[in-house]
Amino acid sequence: MASTKVQTQLKDKLKEVFGYNQFRGDQEVIIQHILDRKNTFVIMPTGAGKSLCYQLPALMQEGTAIVISPLIALMKNQVDQLQALGVDASFLNSTLSKSESNRVKKETLEGKTKLLYVAPESLTKEDNIKLLRKSNISFIAIDEAHCISEWGHDFRPEYRRIKQIIEAIGDLPIIALTATATPKVRADIQKNLKMEDANIFLSSFHRDNLFYEILPKTEPKVQLIRFIRNHQNKSGIIYCLSRKKVEEVAEFLRINGVNALPYHAGMDSGQRMGNQDAFLNEDCDVIVATIAFGMGIDKPDVRFVIHYDAPKSLEGYYQETGRAGRDGLESFCMMLFSESDIAKLEKFHKDKSVTERENVHILLQEMSYYAHSSVCRTRQLLHYFGEDVEHNCNHCDNCKTKHASFNAKDQILLALKTVEETSSRFGIEHICNVLTGTKSDYVESYNHTEISTFGKGSEFDNLHWESIIRQSMINSFLSKDVENVTLIKVTEKGKKYQKEPYDLAYTQDYQWPSELEALNEEAVVTNTFDKELFDILKAKRKKVANQKGIPPYAIFQEPSLEEMATTYPTSQEELMQINGVGAGKAKKFGKPFIDIIADFVEKNEITTAKDVVVKSTVNKSKSKISIILQIDRKQDIEDIAESLKISFDDVLDEIENICDSGTKLNLDYYIDTIMDDERMDEIYEYFMQAESDDLDVAYDELDEEIGEDEIRLIRVKFLSEVAN
Ligand code: ADP
Repeated sequence: MASTKVQTQLKDKLKEVFGYNQFRGDQEVIIQHILDRKNTFVIMPTGAGKSLCYQLPALMQEGTAIVISPLIALMKNQVDQLQALGVDASFLNSTLSKSESNRVKKETLEGKTKLLYVAPESLTKEDNIKLLRKSNISFIAIDEAHCISEWGHDFRPEYRRIKQIIEAIGDLPIIALTATATPKVRADIQKNLKMEDANIFLSSFHRDNLFYEILPKTEPKVQLIRFIRNHQNKSGIIYCLSRKKVEEVAEFLRINGVNALPYHAGMDSGQRMGNQDAFLNEDCDVIVATIAFGMGIDKPDVRFVIHYDAPKSLEGYYQETGRAGRDGLESFCMMLFSESDIAKLEKFHKDKSVTERENVHILLQEMSYYAHSSVCRTRQLLHYFGEDVEHNCNHCDNCKTKHASFNAKDQILLALKTVEETSSRFGIEHICNVLTGTKSDYVESYNHTEISTFGKGSEFDNLHWESIIRQSMINSFLSKDVENVTLIKVTEKGKKYQKEPYDLAYTQDYQWPSELEALNEEAVVTNTFDKELFDILKAKRKKVANQKGIPPYAIFQEPSLEEMATTYPTSQEELMQINGVGAGKAKKFGKPFIDIIADFVEKNEITTAKDVVVKSTVNKSKSKISIILQIDRKQDIEDIAESLKISFDDVLDEIENICDSGTKLNLDYYIDTIMDDERMDEIYEYFMQAESDDLDVAYDELDEEIGEDEIRLIRVKFLSEVAN
């Protein structure tokens, strides 16, 4: 126990250097441990204040404390912050010039530097080891200690050598710190650093201001924009897996009026830092980033974190969502989940070693199960990090939705019995196979067809049993083997339950939409349109068509009307975003339709409908632009086809697409050379009186001698002259 005098000194220093009046959580006891030269292991969620745990004791002692940190990019930032507080801090890494590095080394030798940040790569250099051996080192802090473990989500091989190097420097106390460590990773860290004797300070990972929600990724862009419109002008981070996706989503958001910027390692560093600063200074609301963004960034008022793609592990997910709501205020964490993202992530690692692939697979399975499960998200997450919580959080999506539940007593007992009968030497999949009576190679080779529970659960499928087993893990009846996390065994609590079972409600997991239905990456509008408005718009179209003496479809096609009755455009600009309505059409026919919609929206107090207006990025491919330019220059279609190295038919397809989306094209120069006036008039007249511009119908109705290409060309001419 610290003396009152030391306590007072610590508090004074806390106030004097950092300006804080109180320690948070376990900070004071941790610092005391370090001052007592004891090995210390700190597991605290992001934002809880880990840095202070080694910064303050470094200032209270003689000599220099070494801080090992994996991220060179962040070192400068942390050192700058410390220097601003008047602390003698420096860093040693590959970005320093020779003279800078010499200065740092000199100051360390002189004992002037209180905190020296070092990258593990620099630590392994013989010169540096020699220097540190000669210096007066107070202790070693290892930040992001989970990087030591192959079982974690961010394994760095050079971290494995740290202990060896520390031993070469001297007999020094170690403080290891991390924000994410499952029980398995924790054991691994302690073993590797030979600090099994260390005192562990495990803070609760519970962040009760974070609201977790997971949606099946069905129409990601619509889901994204809907979420953001509900959190307008709030600060948020959107995580995507690839740089390309980051660019695409940022662009998409900008087009939709969201003040968003991209951030990824492929951008030049000036621009990247500029975007980061814009986010920190609130010049931009939303940053779209790869996971590289956010580490070490201390923005307290991030109100939402969205995972547009599934994260690689629950550890990563928890760290990233942890960047929301550091100020303790209500914040939202939404993930769009699809199994195909998980498959993609598995593929990324297909060339890695078998062990690495297996680890990745285990992490991804946990991720996938978390997404599908109907159990309270907070309980699941905390359980994953080894913290058992008896009660649900009552504010995640699963707590808010009434999932069907059932009395699982008999099923729990059956699952526990199966684990025991298979000698606790198997994983979930195997146990499920035994329960459902599935004769896999493994089941057969271990003769598990012979045990009493084989096939006893065949009325349910493997998914159901997986859910029973996982919920039993969350209830601590079953646990993972710490040595080999793929194996499960019955716990003491589970054994007690077997002796004195009681009724227990488990929830029914989601009926996840099938992948095919689910993934509609480019979906732009939902398909439920407002029937009432649609009818009004259709009637108006008929009236206008009569007045102008042209067919109704030449004004707007039905799918365009349906889209209007979904997204309620109330300005010419918004109308132009509707498929099939270009600038020409919007200007020529738009006004009465916009007026009707504005009136309708006002009368029906439709305010939310606008939230789903999703504008797609301008979809004029290079070939489209080239075709338009070549038509302007009156090039023959055959020549255009040749120049683009595509077929004549493909050029016609593109021309139709261009025309259908509202652009006027003048093909007379070409049509005049291949058709006589009579045929032209016949087709033109046909379209003038037809019910629709459907090509198949036209082909059937028109004279047999008239060719398909001719009909297609005149249709374009007709639509360009009358409709666009
Ligand atoms: P972590 O490394 O655990 O993610 P940090 O060390 O970056 O967290 O601390 C998060 C924030 O909490 C920082 O802004 C830090 O200055 C602040 N903080 C740390 N300790 C205290 C304290 N005792 N009182 C007030 N603020 C603190």
